[in-house]
Amino acid sequence: MFSRFQRPASGLARSLSTSSSNNTAVAVMGASGGIGQPLSLLLKLNPAVTKLALYDIVHTPGVAADLSHCETKAVTTGFVGADQLEASLVGAEIVVIPAGVPRKPGMTRDDLFNTNASIVANLAQAAAKVCPKAMIAIISNPVNSTVPIASEIFKKAGVYDPNRIFGVTTLDIVRANAFIAEKKGLDPADVNCPVIGGHAGVTIMPLISQCTPSVSFPADELKALTERIQDAGTEVVKAKAGAGSATLSMAYAAARFTDSLIKGMKGQEGVVECAYVASTVTECTYFSTPLVLGPNGVEKNLGLGNLSAFEEEVLKAGMAELKGSIKKGEEFVAKNF
Ligand code: NAD
Repeated sequence: MFSRFQRPASGLARSLSTSSSNNTAVAVMGASGGIGQPLSLLLKLNPAVTKLALYDIVHTPGVAADLSHCETKAVTTGFVGADQLEASLVGAEIVVIPAGVPRKPGMTRDDLFNTNASIVANLAQAAAKVCPKAMIAIISNPVNSTVPIASEIFKKAGVYDPNRIFGVTTLDIVRANAFIAEKKGLDPADVNCPVIGGHAGVTIMPLISQCTPSVSFPADELKALTERIQDAGTEVVKAKAGAGSATLSMAYAAARFTDSLIKGMKGQEGVVECAYVASTVTECTYFSTPLVLGPNGVEKNLGLGNLSAFEEEVLKAGMAELKGSIKKGEEFVAKNF
């Protein structure tokens, strides 16, 4: 039986050790970037990844040459520039997309829309053509809009499968787990806190009442912790002072999510991750909730579960922004493609 309280990957290291019998082809789009490079390293270390294609508009020959010297079996190849885009996607079963610009201090994720919308749309167009059955895991912000963008592109190409396009929100869960563990003196590997909604400010909705192990906080601490999880990306952007946004923790989170996708695809039962997908759970047509992952992507949406009164308010507060971001992504494709 599936439980929404189960934690699929209680620590990446433990997770990886169980998936060594699989063979999976993964493509990373934006592989030379702040997220792309450490993510590619973590995927090169995953024994289930046997083919690793690294695509970027710059530097991938060097990144691939460097990584290919690690003594692990993933055959690593670099592809650089638009001419090699389609070749990088041949045979890909999972396409992870961290391509695009990151935030600088004072910027919201939505401020990235003008640059990243076309980057994601173009990469999605190539994936729809070359590997239409691949799982697409989108990291590029604003995730709340880039997932609808990729979905619209797949619809236009006639190959849309809502169960295979994911916005990677895993970093929000990773952060919630880390912060709760720190506050309660727990081992972070034992903590699993679902975070639902979207991936920007108030659309990030931590469900601390559903955390395992069960934890509770006085109202003021609960509010502060919820807001810290919602603003954690900005915490990193400020600390990096102009040098970008979260890269290392994001690479970790994306490696965890990719590993869970692989496990689900290869038939492991009970693999659950939250991700931002096409959804009928709320009035938002895309929404993150815990999902059972299987051979065809989303096998089952586990929904919202029981929300506390505080979480009901958090849910209400984020809905309008999320709907607007979805509409903006859909309109972008309607106007430009
Ligand atoms: P970065 O600038 O360090 O790297 C981005 C890479 O994308 C660069 O190597 C660049 O050359 C490449 N790129 C640009 N245009 C491209 C194209 N058309 N095709 C392929 N590659 C292209 O940025 P980063 O810090 O790695 O962040 C990448 C994205 O991830 C940003 O949009 C950022 O906001 C987002 N992000 C998401 C999360 C999340 O939780 N989902 C967390 C952190 C960052």
